[in-house]
Amino acid sequence: MSTYPFSAVVGMDDMRLALVLNAVSPAIGGLLVRGEKGTAKSTTVRALTAVLPEVAVVPGCRFSCDPAAPDPACPDGPHDASAPVAVRPARLVELPVGASEDRLVGSLDLERALTEGVKAYEPGLLAAAHRGVLYVDEVNLLHDHLVDLLLDAAALGTSYVEREGVSVRHAARFLLVGTMNPEEGELRPQLLDRFGLTVDASAPREPDVRAEVVRRRLAADDDPAAFAARWVDEEQALAERIARARGRLASVVLPDAALRQITTVCAAFDVDGLRADLVMARTALAHAAWSGRSEVDAEDVRVAARLALPHRRRRNPFDAPGLDEQQLDQALQDAADQGPDEPPDGPGAGAPDGSGQDDSGQDDSGQDDSAVDEGQSSVDAGAGAGAGAGAGVAPRPAPEAPPAPAATPFRARLLTVPGLGTGAAGRRSRARTDSGRVTASRIPAERVARLHLPATLVAAAPHQLARGRAGRGLVMRREDLRESVREGREGNLVLFCVDASGSMAARARMSAVKGAVLSLLLDAYQRRDKVGMVTFRGAEAQVALPPTSSVEAAAARLQALPTGGRTPLAAGLLRAADVLRVERMRDPSRRPLLVVVTDGRATGSAGSAPTAPVEQAQRAAALLAAAGVVSVVVDCESGAVRLGLAVTLATALGGELLRLDEVAADSLASSVRARTATPSRKVA
Ligand SMILES: [Zn+2]
Repeated sequence: MSTYPFSAVVGMDDMRLALVLNAVSPAIGGLLVRGEKGTAKSTTVRALTAVLPEVAVVPGCRFSCDPAAPDPACPDGPHDASAPVAVRPARLVELPVGASEDRLVGSLDLERALTEGVKAYEPGLLAAAHRGVLYVDEVNLLHDHLVDLLLDAAALGTSYVEREGVSVRHAARFLLVGTMNPEEGELRPQLLDRFGLTVDASAPREPDVRAEVVRRRLAADDDPAAFAARWVDEEQALAERIARARGRLASVVLPDAALRQITTVCAAFDVDGLRADLVMARTALAHAAWSGRSEVDAEDVRVAARLALPHRRRRNPFDAPGLDEQQLDQALQDAADQGPDEPPDGPGAGAPDGSGQDDSGQDDSGQDDSAVDEGQSSVDAGAGAGAGAGAGVAPRPAPEAPPAPAATPFRARLLTVPGLGTGAAGRRSRARTDSGRVTASRIPAERVARLHLPATLVAAAPHQLARGRAGRGLVMRREDLRESVREGREGNLVLFCVDASGSMAARARMSAVKGAVLSLLLDAYQRRDKVGMVTFRGAEAQVALPPTSSVEAAAARLQALPTGGRTPLAAGLLRAADVLRVERMRDPSRRPLLVVVTDGRATGSAGSAPTAPVEQAQRAAALLAAAGVVSVVVDCESGAVRLGLAVTLATALGGELLRLDEVAADSLASSVRARTATPSRKVA
């Protein structure tokens, strides 16, 4: 097979530059490419290895040891220092989104360890990617479990596998490249931060450029070999330039003035921690080396800022991607004005002169970015305000009416998903888990995950004579092995779907609603759930918080939630269904619990028939029920005249109904039972 030549890719200039800089300096930490489908993201990534320097390896080592410095812990080692050296092209390893844990980290054959006394380890993709590229297409859909393993390996440069006390460890350092279509769900913040650089890829807008893309693609599809041959010289030149830059990198100097520009820019863009500064410095150094310079200059800093900062300053999924060029210019200018005579670590850093406020480190509150964002993302804020009275789409507080504060949280009733799940350990619903108490033993279907030792011994005992046991040890066979069956509790995904429309907007009531949701959030934190929040008001529904383990983030979004406008209940439910669908791909064993917080009202846009919105909501609810989503409706209706619309909604959802005052753990449960829509779905 012949891949498309890297040099022949048209457009995608930022993406190619970011890949090249990572190739020059792997310490930058990889690249995330965000963009719509059909922008040649994957083609470009796959083309990279052809221009990467070749890798010297110890022949026969499955872990790609460097002959000059073999991994002392290499499972195929120890390697002889005088061993011959093999040279092979750099490797690109693709991690499929649905890969198993064994495929990623390798599989350790516990059966052989027990029955034959040998450590049988089959390396996985992390081993194959060592000293090469690990590519994950649709990285935003990667299972959480794989994300955790990947993050651990990337952070340590090591992969570690352990089963029942038998363990294997090997080096795993790779250039991590991910591509994703943000329309299909956002990336977990922890994973986002792992990528050194990000670029947004979009198809070129200019007709001439598009024509060239098509022309080359046609030629490549027509005769791949001939097309590749036309680009051999360019590929060769590029590979040589990368190799030269890599050789030059160590001698490139980062002058104090350039470093000050970097730190000033990072402070101005209000990024978390110091990681951004480090990545920017490495990127600027790589760019200088790539450009043939021996010293980092302002252009290197500018390029580094454009590639390293966009994803580090965005804490809100609604902030516009990319970097504000004017703000960048201003920060670079500020750094120049500051002059070389002021020591960067001097008294200025701690002095209360106003500049110190930016790096006080209090960036978890979720409020501090509003000051920066208000000014620069005026585009989307303005669009929301233009839509009419209080119907802004931005999740920030509307300036005219501060959001209602949440009432004091209380201990919440335990809501559970019925049945027996298989999700990650937690404290909510009953589940088969790895920890929990042992309830039985069984013959393993595949690999033994948790050995049940007594049952294994019992199974082996009757056969000892027949197997001719002579020595001290038992004669074990694979068929003797038994694994533990355990039952404990799992964490769930608790997705809140919160009505923030005008009908809910009475200030005292919204406080009570927020207090109840906050109580459920705190409960979710203690039970190790993931939480997410969809809100609906005005013209549409939005994902106020994609599923996350950060309950703090959820609480901050909730506090700042503005209210008012119409009630697009159906849109809220459909958006919730979308979130659950994507999350099911990422984390199939985590069972969701949908908590709809509403008075059950639904209104549409002006002019639509008054019954239509209610019917739409019913249909959306039926869709969720048909998908097997377990739901609870928290009925927020209050006042003397009650319409009971939430009851109808709960019925359509096949879910449980709770009055707002029944969310507390010590409220009476009997009233719930009486009003239950379907008795089979219990709220414990
Ligand atoms: Zn080795």
